[in-house]
Amino acid sequence: MGINKKRIGIVAVILVVCAGLGSAGYLFFNMYEENGLLGNEIDSLEQSLGITKTYLENTRRDNTSLTELLGNERGTNEILSKNLEDQFSKNVALESQVVSISGMVQDISGTVGTLQKLSQTDKELLKKYSKVYFLSENYIPSRLVFLERTYLLDASVPKQIHAGLEPFLQDMMRSASSTGIDLKIASAYRSFDEQMSVKTGYKMLYGSGANQFSADQGYSEHQLGTTLDFTTPKLKILSTQFDKDAAYAWLLENAYRFGFVLSYPKGNSYYQYEPWHWRFVGVGLATKLHGEGKYFYDLTQREIDNYLISIFDR
Ligand SMILES: [Zn+2]
Repeated sequence: MGINKKRIGIVAVILVVCAGLGSAGYLFFNMYEENGLLGNEIDSLEQSLGITKTYLENTRRDNTSLTELLGNERGTNEILSKNLEDQFSKNVALESQVVSISGMVQDISGTVGTLQKLSQTDKELLKKYSKVYFLSENYIPSRLVFLERTYLLDASVPKQIHAGLEPFLQDMMRSASSTGIDLKIASAYRSFDEQMSVKTGYKMLYGSGANQFSADQGYSEHQLGTTLDFTTPKLKILSTQFDKDAAYAWLLENAYRFGFVLSYPKGNSYYQYEPWHWRFVGVGLATKLHGEGKYFYDLTQREIDNYLISIFDR
């Protein structure tokens, strides 16, 4: 019994060992096989990786050359835009040169125009006439026109004025009558000879005092054709009573807007007070005088001369 039990035990141990070895071998075999499959997979993955790497490298190379191209392109663009900028600033410089040249041309032609206009403007029209400066007996305004008869105190005797102030006078007469002021013109242009006979006539009437009353021929503003004596149909004569009339107040207030000024105000040192005697000096100068409360004879001839060129400007 003892020996059998031992044998059985040994056989059992051998069997157990064999079974163990067998299953280990099986396991080992299985693992081996699996490893082989894994190895294959790894191989193919490695291959794919290789392909991807190559692809990536190619792509990177492409990118690099593209970047290079882009860089070159950018460089070219920079050069181009620099050129463009240069061209642009050249154009700007040229443009400003053109502008300044045309400005100069304009200035020159403006100056020429001004000089031409000045040379064509009658210098006598803004001269102060006094006992020391008088008009030539041959002086006649460049162009005279007849006054509208409705403006005249005595419509039967035609009167003339310098053509240049005609539109200003028309505007003033219209403006006055539109506000109910009935201005009439008693005298306008007078030639040297007419002035002389007027003076003679006054002399006969008033004696030697006529010199004060009517300017001696040669320095009457009437010879210029730009001077008018106003009255009203009610007053009918040239009288200092005119300054009591609404017409005189209207002239004081408005005549400057049409270029007319009172030549001989009360207390002046040139002639006796003549509220009826108004001279055209242009809107610019008349406006200045009105604004500053001055009279034509208060200014120096030099100051006055600045307004000559624009005397007939509206
Ligand atoms: Zn007068």
